Amino acid sequence: MTAFPTGTILGYPRIGRRRELKRAVESHWTGAIDEAELETQAASLRRATRERLAELGLGRDDSAIPETFSYYDQVLDAAITVGALPERFASLRSADGSIPLSAYFTAARGAGENPPLEMTKWFDTNYHYLVPEIAPDTVFSLSSDRYGRLVSEARAEGYTTRPVVVGPVTLLALAKPADGAPEGFRPLDRLDDLLPVYAELLTTLRAAGAEWVQLDEPALVSESLPEDAAALAAAAERAYAVLGAASDRPSILVAAPYAQLSDAAWATLAAAPVEALAVDLTRGAVPSSAAGLEQKTLVGGVIDGRNVWRGDLGAAQARLEELDALGAAAVAVATSTSLQHVPHDVGDEPDLDPRLVSWLAFADQKIGQVAVLARGLREGAEAIADEIAAASAALADRRSAPGVSDGAVRERATALRSADFSRGEYAVRDAAQQEALGLPVLPTTTIGSFPQTGDIRRARARFTRGEIDETAYEGFLREEIARVISLQEELGLDVLVHGEPERNDMVQYFAENLDGFAVTRNGWVQSYGSRATRPSILWGDVSRPAPITVRWATYAQSLTSLPVKGMLTGPVTILAWSFVRDDQPLGETANQVALALRDEISDLESAGIQIIQVDEPALRELLPLHRDAQPAYLDWSVGSFRLATAGAGDATQVHTHLCYSEFAVVIDAIAALDADVTSIEAARSRGEVIGDIRTSGFAHGIGPGVYDIHSPRVPSVAEVGELLDRAVAELPLRQVWVNPDCGLKTRGYDETVASLKNIIEATRATRERVAVSA
Ligand code: GLN
Ligand code: ZN
Repeated sequence: MTAFPTGTILGYPRIGRRRELKRAVESHWTGAIDEAELETQAASLRRATRERLAELGLGRDDSAIPETFSYYDQVLDAAITVGALPERFASLRSADGSIPLSAYFTAARGAGENPPLEMTKWFDTNYHYLVPEIAPDTVFSLSSDRYGRLVSEARAEGYTTRPVVVGPVTLLALAKPADGAPEGFRPLDRLDDLLPVYAELLTTLRAAGAEWVQLDEPALVSESLPEDAAALAAAAERAYAVLGAASDRPSILVAAPYAQLSDAAWATLAAAPVEALAVDLTRGAVPSSAAGLEQKTLVGGVIDGRNVWRGDLGAAQARLEELDALGAAAVAVATSTSLQHVPHDVGDEPDLDPRLVSWLAFADQKIGQVAVLARGLREGAEAIADEIAAASAALADRRSAPGVSDGAVRERATALRSADFSRGEYAVRDAAQQEALGLPVLPTTTIGSFPQTGDIRRARARFTRGEIDETAYEGFLREEIARVISLQEELGLDVLVHGEPERNDMVQYFAENLDGFAVTRNGWVQSYGSRATRPSILWGDVSRPAPITVRWATYAQSLTSLPVKGMLTGPVTILAWSFVRDDQPLGETANQVALALRDEISDLESAGIQIIQVDEPALRELLPLHRDAQPAYLDWSVGSFRLATAGAGDATQVHTHLCYSEFAVVIDAIAALDADVTSIEAARSRGEVIGDIRTSGFAHGIGPGVYDIHSPRVPSVAEVGELLDRAVAELPLRQVWVNPDCGLKTRGYDETVASLKNIIEATRATRERVAVSA
């Protein structure tokens, strides 16, 4: 057995420094390049990545370089590898039963009447994975050799890399029962059937040349899954007993990132017949000593894989020493999680203030930090004293920099009283809004954005490059808004939107217009599949130098007599989708953002906007994985939304939008937001959430999405009608709104118009039906 490397990372961004993978995959989807060409481009991206990682100090031949490439999603990779392709895609298998890349993409994106796998948030991050569907009779068998091929490919280039696979417990714990599975069936029940396939996979990886394999088991840290900690730990015990005994396997590293392992899981893993364990020491404490560690390498995740701050190297080094005291055979250093959650390289950011840059570390800089700490482990702490001192100096500089603390912002926050967080009675607001708006039953609306066409992106790029001036650009945007308004009038929607053409991104747009933020040029982070976002960096106290959205909203409203929604991004989402300062509690930062939004809402109201939507799609994703941390989180997050919106008058209808369907988990928080209307995602789960809404007694307006905008599929009138029937059968009619799952910006116009037509036709039919039966 070869020793585990002293320094490693749990994963690396796979989209490419210039989003090369996005371009390649999307050109393949449009048919511009064939599969062979896609594979060639992906292989050259992997080669460049390996080279870069070696340059940054990870060993070429000691398994320090992880193989974390994925065409779409790491959970889908594992599901496909073990053959868990839903029945509806069965015909896409090759003759020998294996699952080709085309079927992989179809499972991710859907085809015709067959919806794709559901997508949901990966732990408390902004990454989305595809939810495997497991049935009592799913046949597990090794159905793809992709992991092994990556190892061989690396070997051929002179590397011994470490394949990374989502572990069997996590794969099943994140899966959902396939449609038609009997009541009470749990995917984890299938663990014993799945394990032989994982064992076989390990053997093939060894044969391909892997000396180590990393099995990611973040499910073991979560308290937010259907399975409880005891069940998960018991599953891990069985799983690793079997995998430990697999024949001709690589050494196994089990990684448990994102939070602290439960005591039960820690004891189980410590005793398991595997060779190394990685724990997240940025979100969890150093665990206590446990039986079985004497034979293992403990990998301390002390470099934060989730933020962009340079951090405190001295503190990281001290934590490694604590870990060393547990008496394991060896200690190694790693990032706390995969680096897939951070951008590639601060060196790629010529526009950032050099002082800010000196406080930052993106993926490549974090690898540098890992390499320094690894040297410390090998040569002793004194050997890295200079690097530790430099990191401490950068931290001290940041604390004293102008803008990090702004007196006026702080005074306003201190003066807040509880009345600033509450609106009046809902019943009174509801009556005032009905009177002011006069909407029909089942009002139809969209979530805000209309397709961001090539024309829009080109105009923005030309404006950014200075090829067109502000007047020309604004003129273009006005035309676009006018087009979107008349399209919505023609379609027959009841509450219109301006379409958000001026926004590249719902958070970055606000970040660009608020003080306290910096925006990156190349800081892309994968959100799902081929989609990436560019989170802003919230480094200082936040304030609003001038109104942001008012002129667009009022222009759109001037074009129509129907109500146009003002459209803002809420404080929690602005925080969740930015890299946020780590030097004060998140709640304080959230209230600063909330106050800026509160001023914006007041300006929108004064300008005659009657409906204002404050999007909080990230409310659920920031929810801490550990239950004891959840109440405090819900308190500040809900509080900041209320602070942002509570200044609105009774007749102003406040909407919010949330992008997921696990409504039950945060229903109390959603109710506590006290929005007048809430739109949520529901189409992919075919309205499952409606039952949760009913049982929760949620009494304000609610729009369960009827159109899955993550897929190019156009929902039929019948399909939308079914979802509406379900909604009106289970909920009071006056509560129900009709809308897509989310914004339309990633869709094309053809499918958008076709889908909205079907939605409106289905709504009209349902309205007639309920009128007749009333
Ligand atoms: N208003 C935003 C849009 O329509 C909301 C997007 C989101 O929830 N992610 O694009
Ligand atoms: Zn959404």
